[in-house]
Amino acid sequence: MQAYLDNAATTKPCEQAVSAVVDALVENYGNPSSLHRIGLKAEEAVTDARKAIATALSTQPECVTFTSGATESNNLAIIGSAKTYGKRKKKIVSTTVEHPSVARTLDYLEENGFEVIRVAPNHNGEILPDDIISAVDDNTCLVTCMLINNETGYILPIKKAFTAIKRLYPECITHSDCAQAFLKTPIKFADLSADMISISGHKIHAPKGVGAIIKKKEVRLLPVMFGGGQEKGLRSGTESVPLISAFGASAKEFYPTLSNAISNAKEMNAYLRKELSRLPDISINSSEDLCSPFILNFSAVGIRSEIMLHFLESKGIFVSSGSACSKGAKSSVLGEFRITDECVDSALRISFSRFTTWQDIDMLINGLIDGRQSISR
Ligand code: PMP
Repeated sequence: MQAYLDNAATTKPCEQAVSAVVDALVENYGNPSSLHRIGLKAEEAVTDARKAIATALSTQPECVTFTSGATESNNLAIIGSAKTYGKRKKKIVSTTVEHPSVARTLDYLEENGFEVIRVAPNHNGEILPDDIISAVDDNTCLVTCMLINNETGYILPIKKAFTAIKRLYPECITHSDCAQAFLKTPIKFADLSADMISISGHKIHAPKGVGAIIKKKEVRLLPVMFGGGQEKGLRSGTESVPLISAFGASAKEFYPTLSNAISNAKEMNAYLRKELSRLPDISINSSEDLCSPFILNFSAVGIRSEIMLHFLESKGIFVSSGSACSKGAKSSVLGEFRITDECVDSALRISFSRFTTWQDIDMLINGLIDGRQSISR
């Protein structure tokens, strides 16, 4: 028996995604750019997936550009818009809690003449809309802020901030990294006041290596990849029909049941919180009111994250010590959320998916109780 509770790192592909991959590899192996019918059939699969992603975001298929994942989408959104809109306006506004695929891209632009303002959470670990809005001015070409933080699940007030920014500075481009939000919270693209958002397949039971950038038609992005001009010239390279089809299949499977999935995650999250509250020396790092129900970060105070993580692993329970991308390195993002050093050292991230069961959570609770006894001894 095992309990996989590391779904913010990646999720298990669903049956529909696996079948879509196999079908595209075995039957539908054409190149979507080929003019014969084998090519056309491959192109139809990509079109169908594009529609499924668009539907899941209540937007038009023309807004969807497939990429290799949210990392590429974030790079394309940020570098692509800086190239177009940053010739005279040299300021970019973001936050201190972004994923490395945004943070490192901004570092790169900073080294290349841009001024980057990174808004930090306040003493309560919150970022208020005004904190973002007031950092923007006439010289700002881009604002990029994630919707849901991958380490704590904290939900940033993007809609309020972006709506005000668009009203005050209509020419300022807004982008949101929605990798942890897509199909985990309802998103209507037009309602977010974002010009672009980034999403990823493997966070919603599709394979790794596929994602998309959703972009308003009027936003002009310069590509970062040059070649055959696929995806309307924005992302050259032969489309990965198997991965794109699988991404579409996951969206088709999970969009209609999104509200159900959210209620289930909320119930499981509340149950886990209740059970954790009975254990000694547990400190919760994700506020129930401010965070996504799919992520719960807490600290087993006094036991280093890695020690508890490997103890749980020995019992078949898989969790993360923070963000999987930081490979066990101490997270600076948790500190940004005003989590104490002691709690950062012992932080564990639990993340749910459509496939999480009550049994998984009970296994975790029992594992934590055993861990506290065995490790302290
Ligand atoms: N942004 C966030 C918030 C993420 O959690 C991740 C995945 N860890 C990414 C971007 C990168 O996504 P991908 O793995 O698809 O490149």
